[in-house]
This record gives sequence, C-alpha cells and structure tokens, in this order.
Amino acid sequence: MVPQLEDLGDVHGKTVLVRTDFNVPMSGPDDARVIADDFRIRAALPTISWLTDRGAKVICASHLGRPNGKVNIKYSMVPIQNRLSEIAPGVVLLENLRFSSGEESNDPAFVAHLINGVDLYVNDAFGAAHRSHASIVGPPKSLPSAAGRLLQHEVEVLGEMRNNPKRPFVAVLGGAKVSDKIGVIDALSKVVDSFVIGGGMCFTFLAAKSFPIGDSLCEPDQISFCKKLLDSDLKIYLPEDIVGVDKDGNFATFGVRLPNGAKGLDIGPGSAAAFADIIMGARSVFWNGPMGMFEDVRFAAGTRTVAQAMSETKAFTVVGGGDSAAALAQFGFEKDVDHVSTGGGASLEFLELGDLPGLSALRGAPNVN
Ligand code: ADP
Ligand code: MG
Repeated sequence: MVPQLEDLGDVHGKTVLVRTDFNVPMSGPDDARVIADDFRIRAALPTISWLTDRGAKVICASHLGRPNGKVNIKYSMVPIQNRLSEIAPGVVLLENLRFSSGEESNDPAFVAHLINGVDLYVNDAFGAAHRSHASIVGPPKSLPSAAGRLLQHEVEVLGEMRNNPKRPFVAVLGGAKVSDKIGVIDALSKVVDSFVIGGGMCFTFLAAKSFPIGDSLCEPDQISFCKKLLDSDLKIYLPEDIVGVDKDGNFATFGVRLPNGAKGLDIGPGSAAAFADIIMGARSVFWNGPMGMFEDVRFAAGTRTVAQAMSETKAFTVVGGGDSAAALAQFGFEKDVDHVSTGGGASLEFLELGDLPGLSALRGAPNVN
C-alpha cells in the first residue's frame, strides 16, 4: 500500500507540490502548440481540488514530451498552464520538468530546487512512476508525501489484476516500443497464462521463427531472446497473416512470410479474428500496444477488432498505454473496458514487479512509519 491524501495530516495553509501527468497530446506548429486532448488535465482535478478545498496552495509539475534537458518552445507548458488556470484557478504549474537535465538524472540539486518552499508532496503521475526521476523519487525523501487519487486507483486495479487474477489471464501486446516490451514478457509470464502478440513487436518474433519479415520493424539483438521464449513452455500467439505495403508502397495482404521490401503495418484479418476469440475466452485481459499503425485507416482494422473484443468480452479488462488508450477512444470503446491505465511502461512494470520506484519512494516518506 502507499500513503493516501488522508495521510498528509492537516493541509490547511500548506504548500503542496503535486507531480501530475500533463504529458498531453499536442498539435499545431512548434511555436504555437495547442492541446489536442485535455483529458489528463481534467483527470488531475479530484486530487487538486481535494487539496485546495482544504486550504492548501497547490503547485503542479509535469514533463511534456522529450526535450532532453533543454528548453524547447515545442514542449513549453504554457498552453497547459492556460488550460489549467481555466479549470483550477489559482493553481500554479511549473515549466516542463525535462527542460532541466537534473530531472532525468535525479540530480539532488534539482530536487532541492523543486521542494524549495514546499511543505508536502503528492505523486499523481502513474505514467511516470516507473522512472527514478528527480520529481518522482526526490521529494518523498524529506517531505511528508502521498499518492494522489489517480495513482492510488491505478495501484488498486493493477494490484488486483496482478495478485488475484481470474484465469485464464491473457496479455495482448503490440505497439512500437519493441525492445522495452519484449524484455518484460519473460517476467510477465509468471503472472499471465498466455501472450497475444501483434504490432511492431511481432516481427522480431516472426524473424526468430526464421520467417522473412521484409522491412518491418525489428529488433535484431532481441531475436535470440525471442527464440528462447518461443522454445519455452510459454503460450505465445503470433499473427498468421499480415497487412502492410509492398516494395512499391502499395497496400497489400500477406501470409506470415513478407516478400523483400515489404513492410508489415497491421495484423491481418485472420489473425485479428483469432486474437478476438482468445480475448472473448479469457477472464482477465491486459492490453498494451496497438496491433498496427492504426493512425492510418488502412492499418487500423487489427487494432479495431482487438478493441471491440476488449469491449465485448466478459473478462476483466485493463488497457494501458497512451496510444492504446487513444485507439480505444477513437473507436468509441473506452467506456466498455474496466480500466484505462494512464501508463503503458508503468503498467507493464507494475504487473511484472508489483512495485515501482515512485511507489516505494512514497512508502519511505517521513509521514509513513
Ligand atoms: P502505447 O503508447 O499504447 O504504449 P506504443 O507507444 O508502444 O503504444 O506504440 C504505439 C505506436 O505503435 C503507434 O503509433 C503505432 O502506429 C505503432 N505501430 C504499431 N504497429 C506497428 C507496426 N507494425 N509498424 C510500425 N509502427 C507500428
Ligand atoms: Mg506510445
């Protein structure tokens, strides 16, 4: 368990630093960015108003994108500050934490700067809680600390899924961050009964089975690891047909072998139907990572079929990851799953380990005994 807002004691007159996840989708030109979806800002309100209703002064802090330690107008928080002051007047939002290299390197001097004049710390950024960054693990070393409502809810839902799942428990994995995600399969196999693998990830597995994959996404240094997983007792379902483009860039449907120059950008209709069946037959399903490049309608069908199965199955369903959640919403199914997690990497790591650096930091805070 992690300390909750109630464990902060009297917050009246106190200054509270709230680590929020305002890494919201943005659009428009680099020097005039606009918020494409303010869901994450509105989602922080229960925690913010719990504090302000009780007389606390709230300072929010978040990262946005990957500015890599340098000030970059493209990643400025100003549009988000403006939106926040409309819905939570008087609440301060600091400039992008990742404008300072001290955030990702967890520099003690940056932590000291962040907590200067601050009395209490709240972490409500589940999507960043797997990172040992300054704003996540630094403040609880010296300040009374608590999880915000979003973080607390994530830990409850994912904790239940990890520790007490209804079986069969299926993990459906896809997306583009191949090396990040292949690495956790081994560890997740101690929790789930089987894996369904699509998206960019599946091509490293298909390559490990010696199928030609053309120019599809692949992580060559993970092939031997994938071979090992495929030779183990793990139940791993891979696509049996693929949709993508041929060497001339034209839309094409393939079997499991891609010709030279072809690129796989979605699972094929046969695979999508097979994956949907597995989801319908499961009692718990965790989904992270789109099945294809769903932003292009030609390659969205696999992701749509999986999203629909997630909405129709009687299983307990959790979707993790920004792009997976966006896909679910785009197809109109987000209300029909049990939980949409705000973290992709964080939710995978939590399922794997049952803990995150940001959570153990909260448990070590001076107000927790
Ligand atoms: P999430 O944000 O849900 O954790 P990721 O960020 O890992 O998911 O991956 C999402 C991205 O993966 C999407 O932008 C999608 O276009 C891309 N993607 C999925 N399948 C493929 C593929 N076969 N080839 C290239 N990109 C893919
Ligand atoms: Mg993503």
